Amino acid sequence: DPPKVPAYAARLNPPQREAVLTTEGPVLMLAGAGTGKTAALTSRLAHLVATGRAWPSQILCVTFTNKAAREMRERVAGHLGEAVEGMPWLGTFHSICAKMLRRHAELVGLESNYTIIDTDDQMRLLKQLIQQNELDEKRWPARQLAGLIDRWKNRGLNPEDLDAVENESYANGRGQQFYRLYQDRLKALNACDFGDLLLHMLNIFRREREVLERYQKQFRYILVDEYQDTNAVQYLWLRLLAQESKNICVVGDDDQSIYSWRGAEVANILRFEKDFPGAKVVKLEQNYRSTPHILAAASGLIAANSERHDKTLWTEHDHGEKVRVIGVWDAPEEARRVGEEIERLEREGASLDNVAILVRAQYQTREFEDRFIQIGINYRIIGGFRFYERAEIRDALAYLRVIAQPQDDLAFERIYNQPKRGLGAKTLEKMHQHARRTDLPLAAASLQLADSDELPPRARSTIAALMGQFLAWREQSEQVTPADLLRIVLEESGYSDMLENEKTAEAKGRLENLTELARAMEEYETLGDFLEHVSLVMDNDAANEEETVTIMTMHAAKGLEFDHVFLPGWEEGVFPSQRAIDEGGLASLEEERRLAYVAITRARRRCTIFHAANRRIYGQWTSSIPSRFIEELPDEHIDQETTMSGGASLWRANWSESEDPFAHVSESRPDRSGARGPGWQRALSTGYETKQVRLKENKRSAASFAAKPRVDIAIGQRVFHDKFGYGTVIDQEGNKLEINFEKSGTKRVIDSFVKTAD
Ligand code: ATP
Ligand code: MG
Repeated sequence: DPPKVPAYAARLNPPQREAVLTTEGPVLMLAGAGTGKTAALTSRLAHLVATGRAWPSQILCVTFTNKAAREMRERVAGHLGEAVEGMPWLGTFHSICAKMLRRHAELVGLESNYTIIDTDDQMRLLKQLIQQNELDEKRWPARQLAGLIDRWKNRGLNPEDLDAVENESYANGRGQQFYRLYQDRLKALNACDFGDLLLHMLNIFRREREVLERYQKQFRYILVDEYQDTNAVQYLWLRLLAQESKNICVVGDDDQSIYSWRGAEVANILRFEKDFPGAKVVKLEQNYRSTPHILAAASGLIAANSERHDKTLWTEHDHGEKVRVIGVWDAPEEARRVGEEIERLEREGASLDNVAILVRAQYQTREFEDRFIQIGINYRIIGGFRFYERAEIRDALAYLRVIAQPQDDLAFERIYNQPKRGLGAKTLEKMHQHARRTDLPLAAASLQLADSDELPPRARSTIAALMGQFLAWREQSEQVTPADLLRIVLEESGYSDMLENEKTAEAKGRLENLTELARAMEEYETLGDFLEHVSLVMDNDAANEEETVTIMTMHAAKGLEFDHVFLPGWEEGVFPSQRAIDEGGLASLEEERRLAYVAITRARRRCTIFHAANRRIYGQWTSSIPSRFIEELPDEHIDQETTMSGGASLWRANWSESEDPFAHVSESRPDRSGARGPGWQRALSTGYETKQVRLKENKRSAASFAAKPRVDIAIGQRVFHDKFGYGTVIDQEGNKLEINFEKSGTKRVIDSFVKTAD
């Protein structure tokens, strides 16, 4: 009789079991996605506790996210059939180090109640330092310094460790000086940033032998998930801790290294055997997660990377469906299609909890949110706010609300001093008092105040100017589209400037979100319609216990799995990102490809990839080229499909052959979004160039061109508008026409709302 196997090891395959049972000495599990690395690591943890090899407090277990730590804790409890007495050292590098540092803060000149500052605070601090030292902030932005300091910390470098080259990288050889100033300032504030959590602990381990020895003794076993994404400081920290017992088990997949932009070094996993001679190397090849087609598609794709360990992956699952690649006309159609697919899955009995949409960039979520709200699919956004809840979106909406409804006090209060106008809390208090006294809305009350001597002259003129702006915007709201109104407001209020001047990646993200907001507004003809839509959207907070579709970035999805995965936006410039393409190096494109591999391998049963023929990026319509990653998927494992509805038929209906930019490329004009093959790629790019030329000739914006290709509207032409009737075009700028309407005077309208009259 074979020995009885405990529950936590029952379903493990032989190599997994080996990884679990080899408790002593270093173990490396290097294996592809879905092969049960995390599952084995969890069983190992249970095994160590169940067999009395260690108390939970004697095991250090590092996961990549807090969520993963929670899940592991629950599984271990499940395996052992009882709640384990805590797992104090199960968590992310940051959470574990934060906890250790509380105990030893005095060793690095902090008190145990130190605060951890966020990136906003970090930027503010650095700005102050730059100003105090009379450095030109334009030439040496705080953002750059922040990036350098993060990088140094990720590499385990203190100010005194910087070499001449590093020192030169900021303000002509003042890198070290500013790094040191920043660290001193943090110390004075009894604070540290995220990078410090690890660096301080590494410093303590290096300088204080007894402290290190204590932890070396305490942690009899060390377990690390997602080891391929550790950076240098984490690696050094781990290596010191494991030096004594050498009972360290790390698991990872070099094909899933996707955080090099945060300093992760895939080399760490590849040199593990050197660091820990005699390490047992366990390879897992059976994938338990996905169907063969999904697996083969992902494996075929990642094979295009040059720097990798080749891996065999197989599965016992039956064939299932091929990976679907669906070409659509544009982003709204993409969202519509995904919505339909999800509704179909629901009808077939699937739970929404098993459905995920994984995007390359945060801004891509908006289109799906709008659609899901419209058709009533519950969703949640992981690792980010729902679109309409973001601060900058709320600010923008507050401006629009005050324009539409001058008595909206809450909205007014939100933005009266945003961007900063020097109107402080005192002024607000006065405005409130006056509003109560006069029974006026806040905005109107403040206008009256601007005429009285209750406020200092500067506040008065500021308020008067702001109210003047609102008056002008209110008038304009009658003449321009809601989207244009938003653009005007953001510009004239100084809001865009405020973000642009920040020059941070975050501020850039906010600007992108605002551009996306304007894009969303293009669909509405009046401000009222749009605001009504938004209030419905904001009201749609799905109750927590309900099933929800998950929307998140591919980066955040690492380690997770879902039955059904949708991957929208597989187009050059979206995915791979424009940045990766521009950098041009092999390294960044290979990292994008690994991200694609991670994305596809999240799927258990179905994986559906979308690409749109047109996408509006930074407010400009462009023809998109399908992602190179689609081209790299092995043919026999994918199903191509084209669904050109709405926009497409309009496109076809309105182009005569001679005007068709694609006309010269084929008799058999390819279905632009469906067909594959190099010929088609070529056709597409040729078509794109042709379009660009035409655009220049016509001096028309890409927006109107790609949105609704049609007969050109020239200045002087008589046109018809549904709302304003007949008129003559007197000017044109981008997709906006200035039209002298016969009944209602001169107005600016979006060209897609007019028809030629003759
Ligand atoms: P990733 O690389 O994406 O992090 P992974 O290698 O960590 O993947 P797991 O998440 O541990 O893989 O496992 C993938 C799926 O396979 C999970 O649903 C897990 O429960 C299941 N699984 C793991 N091992 C086995 C096994 N021996 N028998 C059956 N199912 C298994
Ligand atoms: Mg895993």
